[in-house]
Amino acid sequence: MSIEPPVTSPRDLDAAYAALSSGTAETPVRPIAGGTDLMVALTGELGPPPASVVDLRAIDALRGIAIDGDALTLGALTTYTDIRRSALCREHVPALVEAAATIGAAQIQNRGTLGGNIANASPAGDTLPVLLAAEAVFVLGSERGEREVRADRFWMGYRATALAHDELVLRIRIPLAADREMRFRKVGTRRAQSISKVVMAVAWRGNGTWLNVRVALGSVAATPVRAASTEAALEGRSPTPETADKAAEVLAGELAPIDDVRSTAEYRRLVAARILHRVVRDAGGW
Ligand SMILES: Cc1cc2nc3c(=O)[nH]c(=O)nc-3n(C[C@H](O)[C@H](O)[C@H](O)COP(=O)(O)OP(=O)(O)OC[C@H]3O[C@@H](n4cnc5c(N)ncnc54)[C@H](O)[C@@H]3O)c2cc1C
Repeated sequence: MSIEPPVTSPRDLDAAYAALSSGTAETPVRPIAGGTDLMVALTGELGPPPASVVDLRAIDALRGIAIDGDALTLGALTTYTDIRRSALCREHVPALVEAAATIGAAQIQNRGTLGGNIANASPAGDTLPVLLAAEAVFVLGSERGEREVRADRFWMGYRATALAHDELVLRIRIPLAADREMRFRKVGTRRAQSISKVVMAVAWRGNGTWLNVRVALGSVAATPVRAASTEAALEGRSPTPETADKAAEVLAGELAPIDDVRSTAEYRRLVAARILHRVVRDAGGW
């Protein structure tokens, strides 16, 4: 078995689409961006290795962070280092900057991309709860044209996404919301170089009373998830001790995590509830 599949390096999207469409759903041509997930799969120890690969890194259309109308737009090749250095990200989605800062270490942050985190679809992907809580929209592209898929419709099952085999994540659109507050929390074995046991993003609008509450979590289910009952328990409430107790109780009841090598279901449930309790407490200043 070869661990060096053939690689093409197109300079534009049309050439990338053509390369991708030469594959099939059963034997796809696999895009590679930073390679921090895909290279790990090359040995075949984690499942079938890619038969051939299309390297996206020369495609300028997949780069850039900009305001586009009512959204902050990030090209799929945006790295974690790009996010950390971006004044636009710091101003409009500081929680994404916080998430980027917790991913791997400098080497991974320099190479790993936001598009790769999304398409890799690990339930532990650290940016994914932020994108869910921010109600991000993913712009996908193929020879058939472009389409938009909301983050909450993108991850369809364990490591399964809405992407067709010949489709790319082109860019990520995060709606701007001047009064949106968002918090990011990650719990792993260590403070750095650690896969999440629980990762959470909480977003709300309004001053005092919480509106449009979004609670999103990773590592507690087969996909990143929104916690709808917990959102309802927080909606229209002020961040008081009573609200925090109630929301934590609802979240603990709502989640159905699994036991695995990194953690037990019970630990994940307890930690998620405590993290949410602290987010509400910090917001309430008590
Ligand atoms: C040591 C180490 C530490 C890590 N730590 C963390 C961590 O703390 N948190 C975390 O979330 N992740 C972590 N990761 C995982 C990884 O770095 C991230 O998921 C990263 O964002 C992947 O991006 P990439 O560009 O390297 O993806 P690649 O490896 O290039 O690709 C990943 C998958 O996405 C597909 N893909 C890539 N780009 C596109 C696109 N534009 N359109 C369609 N499909 C695409 C590829 O075909 C592949 O299936 C770590 C990995 C390593 C090796």
